[in-house]
Amino acid sequence: ERHAGDAKLLAGGQSLVATLNLRLSSPGILIDITGLPGLSGVKVENGVLRIGALTTHREIEMSPEIAEHLPLLAQAAPHIAHAAIRNVGTFGGSIAMADPAAEYPACCLALDAQFVIAGRKGERRVAARAFFRGMYETALKSDELLVAGEFRLAPGYASAFLELSRRHGDYAIVGIAAHGKFEGGCFADLRLAYLGAGAAPVLALRAAAAVEGKACSAANVAAAQAALAKDMDPPADLYSSSATKLHLARVLTGRALAALA
Ligand code: FAD
Repeated sequence: ERHAGDAKLLAGGQSLVATLNLRLSSPGILIDITGLPGLSGVKVENGVLRIGALTTHREIEMSPEIAEHLPLLAQAAPHIAHAAIRNVGTFGGSIAMADPAAEYPACCLALDAQFVIAGRKGERRVAARAFFRGMYETALKSDELLVAGEFRLAPGYASAFLELSRRHGDYAIVGIAAHGKFEGGCFADLRLAYLGAGAAPVLALRAAAAVEGKACSAANVAAAQAALAKDMDPPADLYSSSATKLHLARVLTGRALAALA
């Protein structure tokens, strides 16, 4: 709080140190939080799975609790960079950084996660859908610390994580985190979240509504794919035009719906 505005929290350093090297950021003070107790690890209690902010990508990738309860995150983690980066990069760092092409923010939207945020006035909780506000922009204030992500566990859900990148480990051109039920031959409570498709992760409400309560037929999947154009207007990047990204998002939507069904 004393240095708010001039201080940066340092976790795994896998994004922050790169921005320091490139002189994109030049805080007066770095506050290393890696020694703080109680911010690390995965815990399941009272139907809620909690991931501490300092839990590394590698710990998430290898956690039996994540594999059992949140297979979406277990599928997504190996897509983050390379092993050397996953060994030190943290869950909290990725969420606080809010890179629009990062894997966890889209997963957290699909899983309807809550983030626990601490400041001098106490703790508050913010839902993932209200947390990611824009390009590298979140609900975190400069004198606050992200403490954990919380995921309410419910039976009967299936997940699929898919992404396209030029090489494995690169940031995604586009990716999808899909989570929902498939009961009695129909989709229910479906959430489709996309990375690399906007300034922030995109929750595609219209595409999901197009197949909600319906079977996984070619016509219904095509309706969801068509509706995506109303959910997103992906910015072009160095390699892909906006139209290419929308096309790829549609391809991944078809694959993810088939996987859920
Ligand atoms: P840091 O770099 O230490 O911090 C990042 C930002 O978050 C800083 O602004 C810091 O102040 C803030 N911060 C950190 N922890 C907290 C907290 N608890 N509360 C509040 N603010 C906090 N990421 C992907 O998602 N997908 C990829 O494909 C990918 N590829 C990469 C490739 C390379 C070559 C590299 C170097 C990185 C890549 N990353 C990728 C980024 C990596 O996942 C980082 O680990 C992650 O984005 C940031 O986590 P960190 O712990 O390293 O945070």
